[in-house]
Amino acid sequence: MWNTVGSFDANWLLQGLWGLLSVFMVEMVRDMYHVASHLWQPLIQLHNWHHKAYRKDFTLVSEELYRKAHFYNDVPESIVMMTTMAAVALLTPLWGFWLGLLYGAGFLVAALLRSQGLFHTSDLTHEPGPLKTLPGLWFVNRTYHWRHHFDETTAYYAGYFTLSDKIMGTALSLKGKTVAVTGASGTLGRALIKRLAAQGAKPIALSRSADAVIEGAVKVIPWRTGQEQELKDVLSRVNILVINHGINVHGERSADAIAKSLEINALSAWRLMEVFLETVDNRWGPATKELWINTSEAEVNPAFSPLYETSKRLLGDLITLRRQDTPCVIRKLILGPFKSNLNPVGVMSADWVAGAIVSLAKRDIRNIIVTINPITYVTFPIKETMQAIYFKLFSDSIKKS
Ligand SMILES: [Zn+2]
Ligand SMILES: [Zn+2]
Repeated sequence: MWNTVGSFDANWLLQGLWGLLSVFMVEMVRDMYHVASHLWQPLIQLHNWHHKAYRKDFTLVSEELYRKAHFYNDVPESIVMMTTMAAVALLTPLWGFWLGLLYGAGFLVAALLRSQGLFHTSDLTHEPGPLKTLPGLWFVNRTYHWRHHFDETTAYYAGYFTLSDKIMGTALSLKGKTVAVTGASGTLGRALIKRLAAQGAKPIALSRSADAVIEGAVKVIPWRTGQEQELKDVLSRVNILVINHGINVHGERSADAIAKSLEINALSAWRLMEVFLETVDNRWGPATKELWINTSEAEVNPAFSPLYETSKRLLGDLITLRRQDTPCVIRKLILGPFKSNLNPVGVMSADWVAGAIVSLAKRDIRNIIVTINPITYVTFPIKETMQAIYFKLFSDSIKKS
């Protein structure tokens, strides 16, 4: 008796899990169908109706286009989702998979009703109005999906779970983006600019010398620390700012060395961050702007240079604090030692590090760790999470106007 009841329950539980998995799978099918809808001509034609239906603020171009979009795009899409799940449920004895089919059927009904003008509620990812939140990290929200329509149609394919874009490296598109990089004539700055250019970005080099020759940069703008405010005009036209300049005084501990380390590594970077955040407009800013800051592995590990650690940790802490109210995504670059003029004994090559940074950013990783030290991969996320919670509890949020 007990056995029967026990196995009966366990079977339900198991099928329930398969059911949840089937919902996840059916969303992946939707995303693959979406990718195909941007590659294969017959599907491109059907899918185009969806792209034509919305204006830049997600208001409808016309009721007629909206209905056609649902009839020619959403209806076949949900039929493909249902058919795939029916095939999986039939080929496996796992009846939990029928839940995926049911889930797809829900979308089919909604699409049919919308195509006939019988159901008017817009779905969450296409609600009209300015963008108020950061792009979702694991789940697609309006800001995330807006970029598929108005930033780059060959990226941001995900419909519900962002995982498909993370796997394909389409969770951030660099194509056509203006990216300014400080410390551009340094080893990593140069490597990053080359990698960014290879992704179709338009890199601007911010460097102390105006006549520096930097491969891949569309422009070199002379700048030195202390002149952050002067960059405001330039930064208002920049999509992504990479704060990458820094100094390493190694074993020095004089007052002068302290002043230099704090000023260049922490205060100048913080001021530049604030100037850039002021340029994020409150309509499309959360979708079109990003800040990447190189705080280095010294945030959590020894760098055998006390003032480098002290100043980089201060910068790291200030970013964690400001991330609480940030109007755009702020990525930290947590890098281990790489071979450069400053560090001739580094193990990793700067080019490899730059390639890894770009690849992880395209997967929307917000704390980009690139190091050979396995401890950092454990300690950094713990430190960052705990500190963010602590800062949230003991600081007040900024009222947004
Ligand atoms: Zn859409
Ligand atoms: Zn599309």
